[in-house]
Amino acid sequence: MTPGQFREEGKKIIDWIADYYENIEKYPVLSQVKPGEILSSLPENPPLHGEPMSAMMKDLDEKIMPGITHWQSPHFYAYFPSNTSFPSILGDLVSSGLGVQGMIWATSPAATEVETRVLDWLAQAMGMPEKFMSGSTGGGVIQDTASTSALTAVIAARERATKFESNETGVRQKQVAYISTQTHSSLEKAIKMAGIGKANLRLIEVDDQFAMRPELLDAQIQKDKKAGLLPFFVCGALGTTSSNAIDPLRKIGEIAQRENCWFHIDGAMSGTAMLCPEFRHFMDGVELADSFVFNPHKWMFTNFDCDVFWVGNRNELINTFSILPEYLKNKATESGAVFDYRDWHVQLGRRFRSLKLWFVIRHYGIEGLQFHIRKHVELSEKFTQWIKESDDFELFVEPPLNLVCFRHKKGDDFNMKLMNTINEKGKIFFTHTKLNNQVVLRMSIGQTHTELQHVEEAWNIISDTARKLA
Ligand code: PLP
Repeated sequence: MTPGQFREEGKKIIDWIADYYENIEKYPVLSQVKPGEILSSLPENPPLHGEPMSAMMKDLDEKIMPGITHWQSPHFYAYFPSNTSFPSILGDLVSSGLGVQGMIWATSPAATEVETRVLDWLAQAMGMPEKFMSGSTGGGVIQDTASTSALTAVIAARERATKFESNETGVRQKQVAYISTQTHSSLEKAIKMAGIGKANLRLIEVDDQFAMRPELLDAQIQKDKKAGLLPFFVCGALGTTSSNAIDPLRKIGEIAQRENCWFHIDGAMSGTAMLCPEFRHFMDGVELADSFVFNPHKWMFTNFDCDVFWVGNRNELINTFSILPEYLKNKATESGAVFDYRDWHVQLGRRFRSLKLWFVIRHYGIEGLQFHIRKHVELSEKFTQWIKESDDFELFVEPPLNLVCFRHKKGDDFNMKLMNTINEKGKIFFTHTKLNNQVVLRMSIGQTHTELQHVEEAWNIISDTARKLA
């Protein structure tokens, strides 16, 4: 493909994406295909000869689009938001166009320095303590997902706790990690992958708001110490996945600090709300954290993948992950004047992900981002109000931000039937969880183009369908 052909085809694809967004509400939000349907529509053998772009676009429309679940639809309320925006798409396109591999500063200085600057901007805009900024002891790095950041935090914590010995000797000591029964599964996965083992993972019980009970954390740590074990890692949630519960971060952080445990805060979705000063009380105690993670690819209008991982002491990361083979040696690294982000995480190769963040932040401005976050929280408050006024439904837990957990009074089977009936129709898509062994329906309100009329329509569909089924 020549640059001229690229220009021509590229413009058509931009038009195709713009048309998609203009028509997105016409698609069933949840893909209606059966397992294997897309696979069987694609030829078993790869094409021997190159094909024209028009043939690919035809198949995209006819064969692939039916298998798309429309995460960017304003009627998408399932799981958690994974919202994007046009500036983000364009930033990602430029990043693809440049094709930069920014594994170390020397392989493309801008990829490193834009990332440093943008993450400092975000830290400042979210009221993060000074230690998480690059001009201080810490700094931020972009990773693919919060799961990878959790693994990074657990491994760095494991190393710090053994004075950076277990990298050399393997995990020999009996280290113990603490999360709550509501913590995201990526933490359990990280503990397993880091060689700690599930047997040394403690799940601390939660209160009636599904937040970790710090006194139980403390008691468990004391018990483990008495048994000769080494507590090394505690995770607090700034918004759990099931119900968006906010753990008491200050109390957890104080215990973690007293016990020399690494304190990781998982704010995968709700971290974005810290852009608004009125929500920052949820992260009271953040200065006690060793690491903090949040996903702009969830609620900050930045397309997947883009996860921000901040640490208070970058040397702990670098001492854990740095390895310098001959072929990567260079003057800039030797000078000590640059960040080589490959030393801050597991992977070596890195995309220029900060570019899309830079586009998003500059397009919206902090005020623009705050406007949209506040709007989603207000829409959730409206939905909550309708649940409270309804005779048929009950609110399961008071929502702190943009996730409403509720259920129909007729019980588990009815709730599942209600949700499946609605989702099969394709107008809206929402999902469920289980809390206290009961089925709970979740409205996660955070898509870029979701407005009041969409949420009203969703509530009408839910309440009308419930009446009909009952
Ligand atoms: N933590 C929480 C609270 C989450 O809700 C999620 C995803 O739902 C994750 C971590 C994992 O996110 P990722 O897909 O970026 O690994």
